Amino acid sequence: MKYIGSCHCGKVKYEVEGSIESAMACNCSMCQRKGSLLWFVSRDKFRLLSNNENAGTYLFNKHAIKHRFCHTCGIHPYAEGVDPNGNAIAAINVRCLENLDLATVPIRNFDGRSK
Ligand SMILES: [Zn+2]
Repeated sequence: MKYIGSCHCGKVKYEVEGSIESAMACNCSMCQRKGSLLWFVSRDKFRLLSNNENAGTYLFNKHAIKHRFCHTCGIHPYAEGVDPNGNAIAAINVRCLENLDLATVPIRNFDGRSK
């Protein structure tokens, strides 16, 4: 399944391919504030459709994850990082997918606060 994701104003847009088994609700200081629900995919399943400069990058803690946000509307539609094996991944905020019924996605809670 191919999904289209975007920020609110549309200046940040991407497509991502895969099947969404579940989404992760993390309680770290960042995710709790954003309310994002994350789905992790291999970076090669993710393709940015908008100009890379349209999104800012926010780093905190270990600077392991690039939290990307729209300069115009402030929404955080995705993040980029590496998994424990060093593979590039994208963390998709499934709340920003246009053609997804969120009610069909099982939510897993993740304790990111103690990490
Ligand atoms: Zn925007």
